[in-house]
Formats: sequence, structure tokens, C-alpha cells
Amino acid sequence: MSTTILVIEDEPAIQELISVNLSYAGHKVLRAFDAEQAQTLIRAELPDLILLDWMLPGASGITLAKKLRSDDRTRQVPIIMLTAKGSEHDKIEGLEAGADDYITKPFSPKELMARIKAVLRRRAPQLTDDIVKIGTLSLDPATHRVTGDGVTLTIGPTEFRLLHFFMTHTERVFSRAQLLDQVWGDHVFVEERTVDVHIRRLRKALEPTGHDSHIETVRGAGYRFTAQKPVHPN
Ligand code: CA
Repeated sequence: MSTTILVIEDEPAIQELISVNLSYAGHKVLRAFDAEQAQTLIRAELPDLILLDWMLPGASGITLAKKLRSDDRTRQVPIIMLTAKGSEHDKIEGLEAGADDYITKPFSPKELMARIKAVLRRRAPQLTDDIVKIGTLSLDPATHRVTGDGVTLTIGPTEFRLLHFFMTHTERVFSRAQLLDQVWGDHVFVEERTVDVHIRRLRKALEPTGHDSHIETVRGAGYRFTAQKPVHPN
């Protein structure tokens, strides 16, 4: 599954090295040289993960990490700090600022990829290829197949991403704007009612096995996927 990763690193050679490796691994890469540039990019598209250098010109990586954690929209985005500092104290400061992990320079591309995979598995399971099961509903990201009670359901690509996100984030209410950020990513020109259209299609796709009952409309708030509701096949 393609993941959008924002690389914030002021040293051009390191930024290039990281970006090339991420692109090669199939990720979409956004690049920034400082915190200000990063924030402009984030306003346009919410990344799935941020690689954040500690020492940046202007606002430091730590300052930016704290800022991202205090903002509702960016609070959940996993952050891996890149740091030349190796002392225990600095690592703790990074984690306290809200980073999910840190990696000390110099690092091998292989180590970086392993860290990214581990953080995504922990923080953003909808971006990994792990099979998700809720009751008798099963979704396989690797084969793009959804089955209910063992029956293969026909589902469009956007509805698939929406269902994957829902199944890995059950019981929480998400607003239309949050779903656009999480499922569509680049939503600058997408209207909120688009979400309603795809929710309708998703319900229709799950209807044959009665699994549409998992999706609840929460008036004035948005949508929720509940794992608790009993499924009544039609
Ligand atoms: Ca730097």
C-alpha cells in the first residue's frame, strides 16, 4: 500500500539519499528543508508518516514535533526523529516531544526502512499489508480482497481504503474532514460530501452479507465503524 512520507531534512545530500530510498520502496515522498516549508506541505496534504531532522535552520525538529502533537489534525501522524545526537538525554527529549521513534545518524537505508515499517505497524495499521478481521468480515490488503462469511464482496478502490481505515480504527467517530485526511490524503479539491457518496457505496458493497450494519452514522459528527454490532445477513 502506498504511503506518503514527509522528509524534513536541511542537508541536501541526506534528504536526497532518504528520498531516493523511500521512492524506490514505493512510497510517495514530500520534501522540506525547514519547519516552515514542512507546515506549508502538511496544510495541503496530511502525510502518513514524518521523518524529522532534529537540527534544522529556524525552528528545531523538537519544536516542530511539539507543534504537530498539539494540533488536532496532525496529532496522530507518526514521527521518526533523525538525529546526530546519541546521548540518552536527547533521545528522551525527542520521545517526550511526541516522536514515536528516533534514528541516529549515520544510519543505513535498510535500518531506516525497518524502523518505518515498525512504526507504521504500531501507529497506522491501515498502511500495512496485514490481514484485518472483524467478526466474519475479512480484508486482505495484499490481494485487495474483502470477504464476509467467506463470500467475496465486490468493492471499489476508494471504498476498500475507507473500509481498511475503519476496520483498523473501530469504535471511534470520524468527521468527514478527518476521513478525507486519512483516506484521501490530498483533499484540497475534494468536497466533504464526497465522503457520503463513498460511505453509501461501501454500505452497498457490504450489504450482501449484512456487514453494512458495522457502519454507523453519527448525527452532526460523522461516521463510526463498530465491531460490536451483531451482523444479520439479509
Ligand atoms: Ca540538520
